[in-house]
Amino acid sequence: MTSVETTHPLPGGAKVAASFTFDVDGESAALAADENLASSMSAMSHQAYGPLVGVTRLLQILDAHGVKSTFFVPGYTADRYPHVVRDIAAAGHEIAHHGYHHVMPTGLSVAQQIEQIDRGCDVLERLSGSRPVGYRAPMWDLSWQMPLLLAERGFLYDSSLMDADVPYRLNARKEDGSASGRSLMEIPIQWALDDWEQYCFVPGLTELGPIQTPRNAVELWRSELDGMRQYGGCWVLTNHPFLSGRPGRAAALDALIGEVRAMPDVWTACLSDIATHYSSLEVTSHSVAPIRDRGVP
Ligand SMILES: [Zn+2]
Repeated sequence: MTSVETTHPLPGGAKVAASFTFDVDGESAALAADENLASSMSAMSHQAYGPLVGVTRLLQILDAHGVKSTFFVPGYTADRYPHVVRDIAAAGHEIAHHGYHHVMPTGLSVAQQIEQIDRGCDVLERLSGSRPVGYRAPMWDLSWQMPLLLAERGFLYDSSLMDADVPYRLNARKEDGSASGRSLMEIPIQWALDDWEQYCFVPGLTELGPIQTPRNAVELWRSELDGMRQYGGCWVLTNHPFLSGRPGRAAALDALIGEVRAMPDVWTACLSDIATHYSSLEVTSHSVAPIRDRGVP
């Protein structure tokens, strides 16, 4: 049996690296799913709650705990709410790339993927003063071309894949599947550590329902952290300000951050710090070839 490597030397002798991350989708996620939602003032207002209200509340909570987070901001959100990007940057958090229009790279040509990357980088750099080093695919739907496109543009890490418990080095392949000689760090995520499935109900967009209580959501997230404290791992929570910025959910997240901060075996950091740390270690290297023929494993 092959071993599953989940423990690495971490700052302070911690066993788990943890990060509270936020995807500031705003209207872009809804519009990417269905542009007709633009005609619904109510649906747009549901999404706008994130940049208008949620981000400010979350920044206050993070500041109170002294936690440095990563905010993935689509370029469209940044252009629409430039003060939000400036506020996040001024508070000392990392601003990372989340596409421009929040469209999934898998549905785009290579030229369109490049346009989304470059346009997003330009607006985030203009507003925050620095070019993003981290990327998260909209809907966590990374394309096979994207690792090389990101590596060529100097990105340090991606956080969209689900095949490990800890960060690893992702070797980028060329379009023909051959090695490119370039790589970036991958910080794995998973659907159970997202607030979308617990909280998101927007008629015409996503009607997963029933909406979960914060108690249920936090119990799920905490159970995964408990497992990682046993086995080792990197716990990356993904929250959306239009969902977890609501008062009851923000209060529950506030309490959870307090709990995690008090755990002596957990190192809390933003994703660029985690990527930098793991890139300095001897970590596993992945080089995944695209699946082209379903008849041959
Ligand atoms: Zn998103």
